[in-house]
Amino acid sequence: MSECKVLKCPFCGFEGSREDFSYIYEVTLYLVDSEVEKEERERPVLVVCPRCKQGFFLEDPYFKLRTGMLYRNRVHNST
Ligand SMILES: [Zn+2]
Repeated sequence: MSECKVLKCPFCGFEGSREDFSYIYEVTLYLVDSEVEKEERERPVLVVCPRCKQGFFLEDPYFKLRTGMLYRNRVHNST
């Protein structure tokens, strides 16, 4: 359980728990006919290393979580 919660920075090799890192979720807004529209495309979460301040993308855990939720919704709707 503990090993999957440890993140490692690919730049400086810093290892820490999820709480040690900062997260940036980038959302792009578009202005369409004087109204702000949210971008449809999903973006991965950018993880920022507390030691070297480099950002890197952490896609796998979120991707698995998302597909798991989608699968569960589909099963629920079909029954
Ligand atoms: Zn680092």
